[in-house]
Amino acid sequence: MIVVMRPGATTGQVDEVRRTIEAHGLQAFVSVGQERTIIGVVGAEIERVSHIGMLPGIDQVIRVTHPYKLASREHHAEGTRVRVGDVDVGLGEELVVMAGPCAVESRDQLRQTARTAKREGARVLRGGAFKPRSSPYSFQGLGRQALEYLAEVREETGLPVISEVTDASEVELFDRYVDVLQVGSRNMHNFVLLRAVGQSRRPVLLKRGFAATIEEWLLAAEYVLASGNTNVILCERGIRTFETATRNTLDLSAVPVLRARTHLPIVTDPSHGTGQRPLVAPMALASAAVGADGLLIEVHPDPPNARSDGDQSLSFDEFAELMDELRRLQFVRLGHEPRRAHEATTIETEAPQAAAPGGAALGELRSHIDTLDQRIAALLQERATVAVEVQRLRGSEAHGHDVARERELLERATSGPSGPLAPEDLTSIFGAILRASRGAQRRDRDQTATSPRRP
Ligand code: PEP
Ligand code: MN
Repeated sequence: MIVVMRPGATTGQVDEVRRTIEAHGLQAFVSVGQERTIIGVVGAEIERVSHIGMLPGIDQVIRVTHPYKLASREHHAEGTRVRVGDVDVGLGEELVVMAGPCAVESRDQLRQTARTAKREGARVLRGGAFKPRSSPYSFQGLGRQALEYLAEVREETGLPVISEVTDASEVELFDRYVDVLQVGSRNMHNFVLLRAVGQSRRPVLLKRGFAATIEEWLLAAEYVLASGNTNVILCERGIRTFETATRNTLDLSAVPVLRARTHLPIVTDPSHGTGQRPLVAPMALASAAVGADGLLIEVHPDPPNARSDGDQSLSFDEFAELMDELRRLQFVRLGHEPRRAHEATTIETEAPQAAAPGGAALGELRSHIDTLDQRIAALLQERATVAVEVQRLRGSEAHGHDVARERELLERATSGPSGPLAPEDLTSIFGAILRASRGAQRRDRDQTATSPRRP
């Protein structure tokens, strides 16, 4: 049951409702919103307070029909934002990317990955310390040593860290080292662990059990919430289906389904969700498109030699490309620090005396780039003007473009002058130019068709 107080209800009225609920042996979870206060009522015999609506200051009493109460959207209609270090997850904040190795393998591996992840725009560092592996013979993680590395690297980079806690007896230890406690897929039904993380002050990232329904998953979240920890983030990490082409089936429909049912922030893990490196970026983009609040991504300096989950870990370059794409689509903003900021810092801090000439040279090169960009833009406009002329000569009824010619053009572009750009880069640039040209031709044709005939 959810009791919604009137806007402007007094603290005395809220207290009276809380006391009445507790006097009937039930629990009251008071959540003070910007406009009104909502009280979740939890307990076995809810009907004991079925007349609570009579108390002053109450606007309405909602009977929640699903078994999870505190996790339900009714309990917190405006949604929850979970703070991780200085980062907010949820409630329409920027997509938060949490990246790092599947398992912490060494101080150096973690440090390198953290620096890259941060430079590219990740806001949280992941790294497994105690690994729940399917086989007892697989690498089990560095344990406590890994937690120490995580804490060290957090100091160094300022990135908050997340790591999986596998046993209730370790929660206290984790509390001392990490910013977010991850409950893994294999432990989603470990109710002792759920209660233990529920007593921690740390936010909890709760992964979906790979055979769990959304309702079971929300009930697992309910254990954490009912134990007193309101900072829960849900993570869709793929479920087991009959499909064998991917490691798991990343259930992206879970994101909008959850959005309607719960106020908790939702992230996805396309690494475990697919199990295959080439599928991680597309499913990460798709997750952002369906409205995920964040992503959990495995990144490794040398994926083929990773001690766990190398097949699904992105290399540094692959991660950088994904982040570029997320920025291009504006799921991720430019960030608080400009990209490659550390490189600029290196130039300036390593040679302080040379700062002035170095700065001048840098300035000159940058203004050369600006001039080149202007020339490129002018050339592109000129090219599009010619393309529009071609379209006019062809007539408005003719099919818009010559596919064979476009293919030849792309081939010519890739075998053109060599330089730092790879042939695939040129192909994608010319692909974009062709798409833009076709757009200009279409617009011109449509305008000519609707405007009065020229003499
Ligand atoms: C992990 O994120 O390291 C992990 C083991 O994931 P999952 O619990 O989803 O398998
Ligand atoms: Mn992993």
